[in-house]
Amino acid sequence: MKLNDPTLLKTDSYINGAWHGGNTRFAVTNPATGDVIAEVADLGAAETTAAIDAAVPAQKAWAARTAKDRAMVMRKWYELIMANAEDLAVILTTEMGKPLAEAKGEIAYGASFIDWFAEEARRVCGDVMESPIPDKRFLTFKQPIGVFGAITPWNFPIAMITRKVAPGIAAGCACVLKPAEQTPLSALALAELAERAGIPAGVMNIVTGMDAPAIGNTLCADDRIRKMTFTGSTEVGRILMQQSAHTLKKMSLELGGNAPLIVFDDADLDVAIAGAMASKYRNAGQTCVCANRIFVQDGVYDEFARRLTEASAAMKVGNGMEEGVEQGPIIDSQGLDKIERHVADAVSKGAEVLTGGHRHELGGTYYQPTVLANMSSDMMMFGEETFGPVAGLFRFTSDDEAVAMANDTEFGLAAYIFTDSTSRLFRVSEALEYGMVSANTGIFSSEVGPFGGVKSSGLGREGSKYGIDEFMEIKFVCVGI
Ligand code: NAP
Repeated sequence: MKLNDPTLLKTDSYINGAWHGGNTRFAVTNPATGDVIAEVADLGAAETTAAIDAAVPAQKAWAARTAKDRAMVMRKWYELIMANAEDLAVILTTEMGKPLAEAKGEIAYGASFIDWFAEEARRVCGDVMESPIPDKRFLTFKQPIGVFGAITPWNFPIAMITRKVAPGIAAGCACVLKPAEQTPLSALALAELAERAGIPAGVMNIVTGMDAPAIGNTLCADDRIRKMTFTGSTEVGRILMQQSAHTLKKMSLELGGNAPLIVFDDADLDVAIAGAMASKYRNAGQTCVCANRIFVQDGVYDEFARRLTEASAAMKVGNGMEEGVEQGPIIDSQGLDKIERHVADAVSKGAEVLTGGHRHELGGTYYQPTVLANMSSDMMMFGEETFGPVAGLFRFTSDDEAVAMANDTEFGLAAYIFTDSTSRLFRVSEALEYGMVSANTGIFSSEVGPFGGVKSSGLGREGSKYGIDEFMEIKFVCVGI
């Protein structure tokens, strides 16, 4: 891996402002080539407890500083990330596989949460309420919740960390974070830059390790951790919630999705095709908000299918470091197996393959951009996220039918609609049981908009003016006068 600043490539865990190697290490591989790119510290429960021990006093000192002071340190961190964006993107693409241009986009997106929450830190306000009792006065303070635990996935190795750590430390909290085992290098590079920016020892601790259940359970069982924030699968989210029940922690859970993308007859088809391509193939289909089921109305179904097939077949697949590549490899063989299972299931139940449908000739974990027509609700792809570059097309006739099919899932993260009718846009947006609705665009994520789901897609909101509240407690103070 060629970096302008090779000292950004860290392979030890970062605890209490020091780098810890531990006794054993685990391999991080490049999914584009299968090569081992680093051997990273394999730590577990004992080191997680040590990180909590360090975070407790560090949090108190950090919270005692003014919000303006914390904001200035965070702003410096943001600037260092942007100044090193090229190297961070190379690290990200090499350990995760997404095309370099997408990785650069993620660095800017990830950094934007630090910039945003540095500003939000300075706008935290309590209230003074009108008292119902003549000799008492009522007010509230907003105070940091304390030390929080964070566990993040591999598909956005930078942004899923900053979306949690930035609001947390802006609020005056400290954290112990475990990144995904496939992508620890991006997390450790972020910690290196945090240290250079002046984030004090113990405020941001990164514990890397293979034994996720042990690290997770240590965080959940420890009473000093007052909040857990997690992005990943619904299955693991449920485990963390159960493990946190005993110590009654505040929870933020960003879990799985099963996004519908609905194209109505009156949609601008250029916009709908561009939106579907962006939403479906971003990160090779491996995002929680990727369109998983594409519902197309009768009148435009054939034309939409033809154009989506043409655009999908033209995509350049390859190593994300190569110029012009639009789709990289799938993260690992389990991910590839799931895609193959979903396609085989759909085809066995009557789906028609319009393009793709197989592993890519490049080998490894590459998969062809795929469009399937004649999809139906008895197929696996209807109920579960495929997490791959497979666009399944379902035909519908009425608005009610589209909304009913879209809502017929335990998940409720993101939904997309394409229509030129304003009244339909409002009616359908209101009827969709989702945390986020994206209308006439395939990309909607921003530090300014609240990100999060309903139903089995989780709890809480990240980003936006609401994000910092997840890391604060409201204290009511009643003053007798
Ligand atoms: P995952 O298996 O749940 O892993 C996510 C993280 O949890 C990793 O750090 C993993 O560690 C850790 N983990 C696994 N088992 C654990 C346990 N028993 N206790 C504590 N931690 C544990 O998820 P994934 O399959 O890698 O990620 C994809 C999923 O994330 C998809 O469902 C996707 O929709 C969801 N996602 C949601 C959002 C959102 O904002 N809603 C965003 C991105 C992704 P190891 O890596 O060491 O196993």
